[in-house]
Amino acid sequence: MKRILILGSTGSIGVNALTVVREFRDEFEITGLTANGNIELLREQMKEFAPPTVVVKDAKRGAELKNLVNGTAEVLTGEEGLVEITKRGNYDILISSLVGFAGLAPTIEAIKLKKRIALANKETLVSAGEIITRLCKEYDTEMIPVDSEHSAIFQCLVGESKNEILKLILTASGGPFLNRSAEELKEVKIEEALNHPNWKMGSKITIDSATMMNKGLEVIEAHWLFNLPSSKIEVLIHPQSIIHSMVEFVDSSIKAQLSLPDMKVPIQYALTYPERLYSKFVETNFPKIHKLTFFEPDFVKFPCLKLAYDAIETGGTAPCTLNAANEIAVGLFLKGRIKFLQIPEICELALNKIEIKYNPDLETIFENDRQTRVFLNKVYN
Ligand code: MN
Repeated sequence: MKRILILGSTGSIGVNALTVVREFRDEFEITGLTANGNIELLREQMKEFAPPTVVVKDAKRGAELKNLVNGTAEVLTGEEGLVEITKRGNYDILISSLVGFAGLAPTIEAIKLKKRIALANKETLVSAGEIITRLCKEYDTEMIPVDSEHSAIFQCLVGESKNEILKLILTASGGPFLNRSAEELKEVKIEEALNHPNWKMGSKITIDSATMMNKGLEVIEAHWLFNLPSSKIEVLIHPQSIIHSMVEFVDSSIKAQLSLPDMKVPIQYALTYPERLYSKFVETNFPKIHKLTFFEPDFVKFPCLKLAYDAIETGGTAPCTLNAANEIAVGLFLKGRIKFLQIPEICELALNKIEIKYNPDLETIFENDRQTRVFLNKVYN
């Protein structure tokens, strides 16, 4: 039995991960779950999976849950609770699926304990990729990507040698606005941006898909996961999201990983790697799919993509600033405070204003993230 701790169990990845665990009750055991504030769903999950400890990030909601469970399980609260449950080490696999920068500190605790990290929180690698990859090497910790594109690349690279990679081809659906003109993007409504054609996901990542910042963050994520320069990471628009990504090798051969889009497939792989277990979450029927199409990405219409490539080139704390600014901008957009096209503008503003520090330590990363948020909150309050 493998013990699993899920950070963010009431989110989209967390719920999918529990569906995978439900399918393999003899293989996996849940020893910890955490939620932001959705204690109703968390309580249902506790009834089904009986984790000894849970964390609620919102202290008030945590106190409510404590009353409800009445000592049958331990309830920790706050960001300290997230770090505490990770530090205790009562798990073999950490599913890191918090949204945003909040995933960084607990993920680091798990790395230091040499636990397998099933990484769904891309912001961790975007903000602190240099430190995370160094720590993984130092502690000899396995990091298996859950992000579907990176899982695809990871699977294509099994049995291959790194120096024979010509390039990674990261596929992108293009999001809901693939076929809109730049002019039409000016008046995008929140509901339209939240309506992704292929994937059902949380609101932050769905907006990131609409701006294509999600793909930009994924380029940065791939850069750190696979230790390749951005010049070897290409983005390809593939609206059907059947090919989850590809690797081209020096002999012109290309490997791809395919299936109908369903996050349970990469989640399961991250839990069972290097093995595969029988499951039938999706059935890929090629005659029904009929055709796969491909286009070049439009860097002018989707400036977020360009900002991400530039941030890797700049290096240091630039990706951390980009990530923090994007989190703030997406939050403002979801509250109806800014227009869709202001998201890249805000990111660019922060990248120009916040001082870039090179070879950052963890302290510097946290400071850069804080500084970016304070700066933007001042401008946009
Ligand atoms: Mn993805």
